[in-house]
Amino acid sequence: MAKTFEQTFFTHKTIATIDFLGQDIKYLAGVGPKKKDILSKELGIETFGDLLEYYPYKYVDRSHVYAIRNMDGEMPYVQIKGTIRSWEVYDTGRRQKRYVAHFSDGTGFVDLVWFRNGEYAHKNYRLGVEYIVFGKPTIYQGRYQFSHPDIDEADTLVLSEMGLQPHYVTTERMKNAGLTSRGVERLQKALLAKMPEIGETLPTYITEPNHLISRDQALRWIHYPHNNNEMRKAQERLKFEELFYVQLNIMRYVGDRRKRYLGCRFTKAGEPLRYFYDNNLKFDLTGAQKRVVKEIHADMCSGRQMNRLLQGDVGSGKTLVALLTMLIAVGNGYQAVIMAPTEILAEQHLETIRHFLSGMSVRVELLTGIVKGKRRKEVLEGIATGEVDIVVGTHAVIEDTVVFRRLGLAVIDEQHRFGVAQRAKLWAKAPGASAGAQASVGIVPHILVMTATPIPRTLAMTLYGDLDVSVIDELPPGRKPVHTVHRYDNQLVALYQSIRQQIQLGRQVYIVYPLIKESEKMDLQDLEQGYEKLCHIFPDMSISKVHGKLKPAEKEEEMQRFVKGETQILVATTVIEVGVNVPNASVMVIMEAQRFGLSQLHQLRGRVGRGADQSYCILVSGNKLTKETRMRLDIMCETNDGFKIAEADLKLRGPGDLEGTQQSGMAFDLKIANIARDGQLVQLARDMAQQVLDNDPECNKPEYAVLWQRLYELRKTNINWGAIS
Ligand code: ADP
Ligand code: MG
Repeated sequence: MAKTFEQTFFTHKTIATIDFLGQDIKYLAGVGPKKKDILSKELGIETFGDLLEYYPYKYVDRSHVYAIRNMDGEMPYVQIKGTIRSWEVYDTGRRQKRYVAHFSDGTGFVDLVWFRNGEYAHKNYRLGVEYIVFGKPTIYQGRYQFSHPDIDEADTLVLSEMGLQPHYVTTERMKNAGLTSRGVERLQKALLAKMPEIGETLPTYITEPNHLISRDQALRWIHYPHNNNEMRKAQERLKFEELFYVQLNIMRYVGDRRKRYLGCRFTKAGEPLRYFYDNNLKFDLTGAQKRVVKEIHADMCSGRQMNRLLQGDVGSGKTLVALLTMLIAVGNGYQAVIMAPTEILAEQHLETIRHFLSGMSVRVELLTGIVKGKRRKEVLEGIATGEVDIVVGTHAVIEDTVVFRRLGLAVIDEQHRFGVAQRAKLWAKAPGASAGAQASVGIVPHILVMTATPIPRTLAMTLYGDLDVSVIDELPPGRKPVHTVHRYDNQLVALYQSIRQQIQLGRQVYIVYPLIKESEKMDLQDLEQGYEKLCHIFPDMSISKVHGKLKPAEKEEEMQRFVKGETQILVATTVIEVGVNVPNASVMVIMEAQRFGLSQLHQLRGRVGRGADQSYCILVSGNKLTKETRMRLDIMCETNDGFKIAEADLKLRGPGDLEGTQQSGMAFDLKIANIARDGQLVQLARDMAQQVLDNDPECNKPEYAVLWQRLYELRKTNINWGAIS
């Protein structure tokens, strides 16, 4: 008899374990209605399978027992074996009394301490019985103490079998219902004891060359590893699987779209580009700029629609790359549009581009909210007839009233203000597609998304699996790194002095205040007070003030005064975060710097260091800082490298909070893989997924059927997966 797919491609039996894993969690011994309810509400665990995929977040070695005498300095979690010698009860004046047990193993003493529910411990743990105590010791008044330790009777706990003990994240509500980490552990143990062999979800042609263990083994070891090696093997397998299917999902979707959408073919470099390069460009492109332009051009020649993310640190010269790209479009007879997130930025782009193109017969027009009436009509007409070659604008350009004759390229600057939905809207502006109509099939404009918030490569791959990524990893020559220092807010007098010095040298200064929704009123007050104070300290200088509560026209005017050099100091909220270019501004002071995220700090710092002068960034904070905040400020002082900062940011905060992730539509509920730390696995998963797609582009070869089937199941069961595409 011929073998089935599964028999051919899986070594492990594929038992129909779906039935077992799909069972309601209430059928597990130890889970009554109350615990079922809590597991469901707090963790979304409804079935055996859900519980099984609730993985430990850490492990603690429980094969080793410490002698109290050998404990020294700061200790990790340890266990000790001994007896309670006596109890003491302290009345703390509060409702709960404090209970202390003096515990000894014969080599020394420690204190076991309960601040809550000590009564219960006092009743339960008897003198003279041998216990194994487990916890993280701290030193209090010269003595080691374990507060709220785990305690087991020594002869019920067989240590050699315990190996690494899993620890699970639990919530307050869970703990109150007895579902501590130990409680979850007990449930997992009960589940594993009755679990049949679990079916395989990755074929041998993937597991074997990559030395991945079976799914069944991995699920058992992830909850009960006997040693570090088993733990690592289990993690590797499960992380890989998770990442692999995410990648396969993304890449399959890209494949679909690439088949559907064609891009205009820009086969030649074109006359405008050649002319510009030979006559107007006054400096050499950096190596990185040249490489990136080549990558982009290759994309635009291919006949497929380009979707490319251009990453480059602030000041790396992305705008110029965008311009070169737009000139290629124009040279091939198409129109191009560049969109900025704000009007100020759009105008700056207009000015830059017109300046770069002076003397050339390329028509560039602005289209933002302030272009009104007759002027607007003219511009719209020019766009519709194709006389306008390059449109510079804001969101206004994706309104339905804007109809292009032959739009071939859209550049989106500072991507994190632009969502996927807006990108999609652009596709409807394809040549041939009528305004507002769905461009389901046909030619769509090439899209270049530029961002100065560098996203680590691994994250970009997962987030923007459908975007190719180009990186400008080189600054134009002659840039001096911004000198960054951290000062406390009791050192302001010295700070004002150095500001005055810089202004006397002819420079300009930004002073930025935080502004967040939750504390908007107070934040604005702080800014106002700061402004008043500065006016008082620098009576001889002109100071601009810009914040989001001003009317657009007022904001614009204040901004312009600073841009033109009429004011020396600009007091502002983060409205100036993105893109503003005032080369003469050489000092960036950030007040309450502890309240800003790393990427925001880096963005703000990017506003200075654009001219020839040495620039400075001064981070001002109070002196009560958390460890994490201190790390953020330290990283800022240590490096100017946006990529290092983005990596650090990702590690500190996790990807869920990073700017851009919300709009990307990618939900970050990976169960075990960590994009920040598992970069190599992301790469491997991506390579394997690519290989599968290369071999089976139509997704119909029998040997890959198991993968498509699994992907189908995952997409069906996990709503968030659907959101990726
Ligand atoms: P980004 O948008 O990446 O932050 P910009 O495109 O605004 O950076 O470039 C910053 C400045 O550097 C601009 O004044 C630009 O004209 C200049 N510039 C760009 N490329 C080069 C280069 N290759 N050599 C010298 N200066 C450059
Ligand atoms: Mg820019």
